[in-house]
Amino acid sequence: MFDYLIVGAGFAGSVLAERLANEANKRVLICDVRPHIGGNAYDFYDDAGVLIHKYGPHIFHTNSREVFEYLSRFTAWRQYQHRVKACVDGQLVPMPINLDTINQLYGLNLTAFQLDEFLASVAEPRDQIRTSEDVVVSKVGRELYEKFFRGYTRKQWGLDPSELDASVTARVPTRTNRDDRYFTDTYQAMPLHGYTRMFERMLNHPNIKIMLNTDYTEIQGVIPYGEMIYTGPIDAFFDYEYGKLPYRSLEFKFETHDVDQYQSAPVINYPNDYAYTRVTEFKYLTGQVHPKTSIVYEYPQAEGDPYYPVPRAENAEIYEQYKVLAEATPSVRFVGRLATYRYYNMDQVVAQALKVYRTIVAGGNEKLELPAKMSRAREMEPAKARAVNGNGHSKTNGSGLLERER
Ligand code: FAD
Ligand code: UDP
Repeated sequence: MFDYLIVGAGFAGSVLAERLANEANKRVLICDVRPHIGGNAYDFYDDAGVLIHKYGPHIFHTNSREVFEYLSRFTAWRQYQHRVKACVDGQLVPMPINLDTINQLYGLNLTAFQLDEFLASVAEPRDQIRTSEDVVVSKVGRELYEKFFRGYTRKQWGLDPSELDASVTARVPTRTNRDDRYFTDTYQAMPLHGYTRMFERMLNHPNIKIMLNTDYTEIQGVIPYGEMIYTGPIDAFFDYEYGKLPYRSLEFKFETHDVDQYQSAPVINYPNDYAYTRVTEFKYLTGQVHPKTSIVYEYPQAEGDPYYPVPRAENAEIYEQYKVLAEATPSVRFVGRLATYRYYNMDQVVAQALKVYRTIVAGGNEKLELPAKMSRAREMEPAKARAVNGNGHSKTNGSGLLERER
């Protein structure tokens, strides 16, 4: 008999498995439909022996000391400050847009002060910043928006920036200094021996059993457990009762080249050319020394594995309906990027999982008292569960997005 069945062995599931087993002495079964742990952060050595990320480049960065210290129990780190270039008008220029980007692009020699003035002269003021177009156009004007953001966003999301929440392009700042780092977080580092090794150490506990290649529906009703923690897509859990929540997908094309270095930056973005959005060369990220090098192209797709929730009002509304169902299903906790439909980075998912753990141990654990049979009955009858709380209003602010935890 397990105390918990955890669905999904990514950050959300693995942090909770580790905490529940190590701190609360619970017996945990964690399953994943994939043949490996680590979720989207999974990395492995390819045929050439180069460490690559199966689901695209994952760069760890956080402002949360708690998250960094927590993960440091399971890994040593390699200091790494991420840098990106964008291919615009035939040139490779720093991205996010900074002083050097503008000077290089237009062949100028502006100072930071002059760039401020220039941006102020081209920016289109907006009363309200609602969309991803508003965010950029109000800061850098239409021309730079079209060069750097419009094409990339249309490719990445299959939507115009004017159809996406402001939060999407707001992830990328504009700078008038020469700082060319992609992130400015306090902690920026890569797990020294890779993400998978870190996950192995998190899950290495006698109270944790791992079942891979296993959809939770295959073991539900067969293996008894107390409570469920679900980290997969929330719409799938409720059998798409309110329709499909859009998740953007990607196809990854990997290549290995017989050269030490393939491109001049860890990531090169292609906002305006090609069907792919960006090309990543992994050795920059991992620091691996190897005579060959492996890269990945990302091709955005509408169908396929769910990678990105799509932040826009109409999707937040659908999510809110599922959230009401989730709240009326007390034997299951929904955690992580897919289950809470949030465009979260890894550190935000870790913070969310640690918070859920604290809720469990601080007496938000009335769910622990539910007899296992009742738990399962409820899980299998979402429609009935909804009837209990059918008219309930959601407790969130409805944006479907949370600010980064600091
Ligand atoms: P996931 O990692 O998706 O884990 C959920 C798991 O549940 C999956 O392994 C899935 O197989 C399993 N599952 C689903 N349904 C079932 C089922 N029915 N039965 C059993 N198992 C199931 N974040 C950063 O901080 N920095 C980055 O640089 C970064 N880059 C990214 C690049 C890409 C291309 C993508 C897609 C994401 C990136 N992220 C990055 C975000 C990061 O991947 C997520 O924040 C994090 O991995 C989410 O963890 P999770 O546990 O919520 O979800
Ligand atoms: N973006 C863009 N041009 C770029 C980089 C980013 O238009 O060169 C926009 C795009 O909409 C993208 C979003 O900003 O989806 C967030 O970028 P980020 O690099 O954070 O995306 P992620 O790494 O999560 O895929």
